[in-house]
Amino acid sequence: MKDLLLAWYSQNKRPLPWRETTDPYAILVSEVMLQQTQVDRVIPRWHAWLERWPTVEALAAASPGDVIVQWQGLGYNRRAVSLHRAAQHVAAHGWPDDLTELPGVGPYTEAAVGNFAFGRDVLPIDTNVRRVQERTGELFDGSCAQALFDLGATICLARIPRCGECPLAAECPSRGRRYEPLRKQSKFEGSFRQRRALALRAVAAGEQPSDGDALVSLARDGLVVLQDGAATLPS
Ligand code: SF4
Repeated sequence: MKDLLLAWYSQNKRPLPWRETTDPYAILVSEVMLQQTQVDRVIPRWHAWLERWPTVEALAAASPGDVIVQWQGLGYNRRAVSLHRAAQHVAAHGWPDDLTELPGVGPYTEAAVGNFAFGRDVLPIDTNVRRVQERTGELFDGSCAQALFDLGATICLARIPRCGECPLAAECPSRGRRYEPLRKQSKFEGSFRQRRALALRAVAAGEQPSDGDALVSLARDGLVVLQDGAATLPS
């Protein structure tokens, strides 16, 4: 099955810019951005980020406030703070063998950076990869990671997989099945997450938002500093 998958990938690979580098910093940035944000939205932001901070040392030297502002619009702003702290750790101590020592790096990101930057034979298992493995009953190795991402994103879709176009169809026991709709993601509109985003945007614009709960929560995550009743970005 692996050979079929890789042959399909060589013809159908999505041209994603982070696939053209093995720089661990550039790959870490892409992986952290992709944790909660769609590929199409990440591509221009990834380019802009690397243009502004091309190296891990450059990012480490940036102010937390600038990093948070640059992240605006990507959502889940805590990722920006963690990425910045990770860069400071690497700039001071180098890349650790155990990448989960870096802030914001869990087992998935560790596997992705380990594979794409350091050439380790580990498979980062996201929802797409898990789905393809479960449906095919096959355990793929690290060399199949990018191909599995693409198969899961374009062919082996969550609800109605496009088995007629799938390179694995001849050997897949789930061929032709349909699946129940997945649980809907909780709404952003009206959520506390949205209140936090609005409050952070206001602080970044030099305003003082009145949403105290959101400000306290942002301060707890290191996204704003509260002093004498005033909120500012960390400097
Ligand atoms: S045959 Fe269908 S269910 Fe099986 S891997 Fe391909 S798209 Fe997914």
